[in-house]
Amino acid sequence: MKHSKKGHRESALHVKEGTTPSNPLNPELGKHLHRQARPGVVALSEGVLRGDRVLLSQAITLIESRHARHQEQAQEIIERCLPHSGNSIRIGITGVPGVGKSTFIEAFGKMLIQQSLSVAVLAIDPSSQLTKGSILGDKTRMVELASLPAAFIRPSPSGHSSGGVARKTRETIILCEAAGFDVILVETVGVGQAEIAVHSMVDFFLLLLLPGAGDELQGIKRGVVEMADLLAVNKSDGENLLRAKQAQAEYRNALHLFPPKENGWAPVVQLCSAMAGEGIAQIWEKILEHKGLTEQNGSFAAKRQHQARYWMHETVLEQLKALFYDHPGIKSWLPELEEAVVKGTLGSRLVLKKRSEPVRDFIVQ
Ligand code: GDP
Repeated sequence: MKHSKKGHRESALHVKEGTTPSNPLNPELGKHLHRQARPGVVALSEGVLRGDRVLLSQAITLIESRHARHQEQAQEIIERCLPHSGNSIRIGITGVPGVGKSTFIEAFGKMLIQQSLSVAVLAIDPSSQLTKGSILGDKTRMVELASLPAAFIRPSPSGHSSGGVARKTRETIILCEAAGFDVILVETVGVGQAEIAVHSMVDFFLLLLLPGAGDELQGIKRGVVEMADLLAVNKSDGENLLRAKQAQAEYRNALHLFPPKENGWAPVVQLCSAMAGEGIAQIWEKILEHKGLTEQNGSFAAKRQHQARYWMHETVLEQLKALFYDHPGIKSWLPELEEAVVKGTLGSRLVLKKRSEPVRDFIVQ
């Protein structure tokens, strides 16, 4: 642990003797917490700052809750934690299902922990509304990493819109940083929309690829390849090795077609085998190199500032939208309005221009 909070502990991950660390993979935990008396905002914030996993989990559960009261409490905790956040390196990891994300995170996380770093793994799962958190919900994933005291794994919150999940993940990053985690890994499936959200909350974006197949075959959008700081062809082992090298050459060529990044970083294509643990250390070296370069030329801090602004606007939009649709006048007016739009008697862009009573009511309020 490189930094300690308020100097009152050696390790941000220190779990007090006698307290049982929570199992963050336990899907029943959220339900259970609702029934139990929960510590107050001050106790939760102090617990997070001490690196107490049980209290960190409870604070995250508040972030994920839909209840207005919980949301208020969560915002207060975030406010208390914000001054202590920002000290980690945030890494986004993406790739199609089956590319080896969890195997990679397991190997990568264990390597970091061997170097005395602590690791939090979070996820944004765009399919979680349907599958209730398919990325990290499966308990068999990352079992070894999950059992290490310096690791904390939190599945994607389920049942929220993808925008809501992304904001909650960003808020969870703040709490994990306040709890002293050195490295935050944010995992997502390489299908498009969620990558943009992840990209807007991390310092480094890692795309895992399969040997052989071009990106059309891997279902990866060009925009996702363009966002990546490092492309790693995973499963570069055994019979795959030749095809992995071909893919590496193909992606190196493809990268030349993209405009250079403003921060001066030239994305690289590396080979790795998450299963054999090969090429993992080299990826970490590249991430540190990227950090060094961007810190030196000021783009590391500038990107974080840009991201903070982006999330402020996203939050304003999200809240305005919720206020609008929850407004009783708007709610009762909507069916009539929808009908008019469907029938074609009203254009959808005219809805607000008409300045009808409910909209005026909403604006005045
Ligand atoms: P995810 O869906 O992206 O999280 O992928 P998983 O980590 O679950 O891996 C999917 C499958 O690929 C599993 O059967 C892994 O054992 C296998 N796999 C992952 N990494 C490697 C690797 O480096 N080499 C080989 N040969 N197989 C791997």
